[in-house]
Amino acid sequence: MENSKALGTWLDDFKLSHPLVIAGPCSAETEEQVLEIARELKNSDVSIFRAGIWKPRTRPGGFEGVGEIGLNWLQKAKEETGLLMAVEVANAQHVKLALEHNIDVLWIGARTTVNPFAVQEIADALQNTDKIVLLKNPVNPDLSLWLGGLERLYNAGIKKLGVIHRGFSTYEKTKYRNNPEWQIAIELQSKFPDLPLICDPSHITGRRDMIQEVSQQALDLNYDGLIIETHCNPDKAWSDAPQQITPTALKQLCVDLKVRKESD
Ligand code: PEP
Ligand code: MN
Repeated sequence: MENSKALGTWLDDFKLSHPLVIAGPCSAETEEQVLEIARELKNSDVSIFRAGIWKPRTRPGGFEGVGEIGLNWLQKAKEETGLLMAVEVANAQHVKLALEHNIDVLWIGARTTVNPFAVQEIADALQNTDKIVLLKNPVNPDLSLWLGGLERLYNAGIKKLGVIHRGFSTYEKTKYRNNPEWQIAIELQSKFPDLPLICDPSHITGRRDMIQEVSQQALDLNYDGLIIETHCNPDKAWSDAPQQITPTALKQLCVDLKVRKESD
């Protein structure tokens, strides 16, 4: 990644006076649920709407996403609210369908980043795209695997890149769902200072009462943005219920966060 300087310029397009905020449900569940959340997030600090429609679950038997039909709901939400739309892609077929439905941002999940063949397949399907592509850290605390994924995307000519720090699995129980291991993301940031670094406090904490604290920690560390799972009825969410917050709580969180100024 010799010329990584240009990688972060897409962030300027948002002309933000605050960190980039990506929000929306863990999973798209119904058309009404998607539209209701998107309407609530319109005219807020949120620029990009997220919703998983293909959900890689660690164990079988959980809700694995609504699939392709969810892309139509996201297109409707985009037309109505003007928010950019983001989905997780885990293979070339997901990429093809997402591109056909004008999805703006594609992210690669933590369970996919661990698999170089899968990342390469996605990179090949995205060759030279001008879409924004965000790479989550791998589930395990391995900086090389995260960097390797990034290099595969960069080598495929994808220029609007960013990374999402969602914490790392440990066998030991900690107060986090996924241990942040901040130093790993900071080391990556030191190698590519122009690469947008986005914190995912929802998957780091796994619980809504810690979202504020971890979001603030990220901003204190100069992160460029946050991705926060948001649902109008969090306790009834079909996936990741304990960590989702309401749009009202999200808007309050954005008010309460203290953003580091250049002069600080
Ligand atoms: C998600 O964003 O809902 C998700 C599945 O996240 P991760 O890949 O970080 O586990
Ligand atoms: Mn989730």
